Amino acid sequence: MEDDALPPPVTHLSSPKPDTAPALAPGAFRTRPAQFERAAPAAGEADSKAAWRALAARGEPTGQALVEALEAAGLSADDPRLTATRKAFAEAGALDEASFALPGDEACLVRAALTGALAAGDFPAFRGRITNLFHYASGVSAGKVAAYIPQLAKADPEAFALGCCTIDGQRFELGLREGDAAHRFCVQSVMKPMNYALALELAGETVVHAHVGREPSGQGFNEITLNQKGRPHNPMINAGAILTAALIRPGLPVDKRFDLVCRLWRGAAAGDAPGFDAAVYASETKHADRNHALAYFMREHGCFPPEADMHEALELYLRCCAIETDVRRLASVAATLANGGVCPVTERQLVSRESVKAVLSLMLSCGMYDFSGEYAFTVGLPAKSGVSGALMIVAPGVAGFAIYSPRLGAQGNSERGVEFSRRLVQAFPWHVYAPIVAGA
Ligand code: GLU
Repeated sequence: MEDDALPPPVTHLSSPKPDTAPALAPGAFRTRPAQFERAAPAAGEADSKAAWRALAARGEPTGQALVEALEAAGLSADDPRLTATRKAFAEAGALDEASFALPGDEACLVRAALTGALAAGDFPAFRGRITNLFHYASGVSAGKVAAYIPQLAKADPEAFALGCCTIDGQRFELGLREGDAAHRFCVQSVMKPMNYALALELAGETVVHAHVGREPSGQGFNEITLNQKGRPHNPMINAGAILTAALIRPGLPVDKRFDLVCRLWRGAAAGDAPGFDAAVYASETKHADRNHALAYFMREHGCFPPEADMHEALELYLRCCAIETDVRRLASVAATLANGGVCPVTERQLVSRESVKAVLSLMLSCGMYDFSGEYAFTVGLPAKSGVSGALMIVAPGVAGFAIYSPRLGAQGNSERGVEFSRRLVQAFPWHVYAPIVAGA
């Protein structure tokens, strides 16, 4: 190579050749409206006809074939948007064209599922490609389980699970070993974006950011430090998250405030209530010297609003860290963020679009501890990890992913989670600036 010649383009060295055919359109940052493209009732007939053609093209049109086709498109058997369709067709035998009619307000979703018009058009292929990435990531054996909260040290280092939910509510879960996919874990810092979202909804952006900054701190997640204005740096580190907890209905008893948080988790998880890991809560409360120090430090500096009680804020913060979930629920939570605050499965707007924009912005810049800049550069997706090994990744307008793998790297992120993230954006053009490259 001559001295002044440009070096050859570099691809990521550790990776297999990227699979370049995207299952989803690059840069298609759309979100679904609160009701799945629900059209005027008259359109139900056209949807039924289109669905019939798609069903007949697959083979003998039977009720069972219809129900199976919906599941093959990633819409699970308990999807509340298809209750009437399942009821009408699960037991039906052979169908005939003349009398084929889908329940009016479900027809659009059924048509989309059968004609490949959902976010993951070819769902089996999409699932297969994600499964490959998952298996690549399972080869990572670096990292250590967090031990500074004694109960967390008991986690099985080998556990590895992934959940995926698209903005159209197509879902699947993967586990490395039997039981991994259903394993329940506490969210730890993955609660921070949700508490931030709730504080924004309840107190408004102006009040929240009068008390908490929005810059990366450049220091450890539990560092005793404030920004130049004497506020915690951002809601994704401990100090900022304790203060954010203080802004969630400070006048109410802690139990009621915790209920509000859990209600948001349940809504975003399509109605599946989160659990609570009492053992982690007890263990962490006993070893929370640093978080107490942070809270006292902030109180000394007048960070809390006058109506907030520091001890209650800390208690709420610690309770939220012990919220228990699984990858299925967590993926739905991530997909709710990917879908502009509307849970894809229930179609309920839980968080305003403005709040989601704020949450994703800070997840992108501050969500991965001291690795946030590197993650934003290489992966380019908003994400939040926690010391339990939980990781939530948001592909805006596309899908949400949840990872659980408790082996953590030096910066406190799940090693397998980071490896999966890298491979995800090599396989799919979802890096926030990937469309620029695609347009070259
Ligand atoms: N509950 C943990 C703490 O306060 C959260 C740490 C984390 O996941 O970042 O230290």
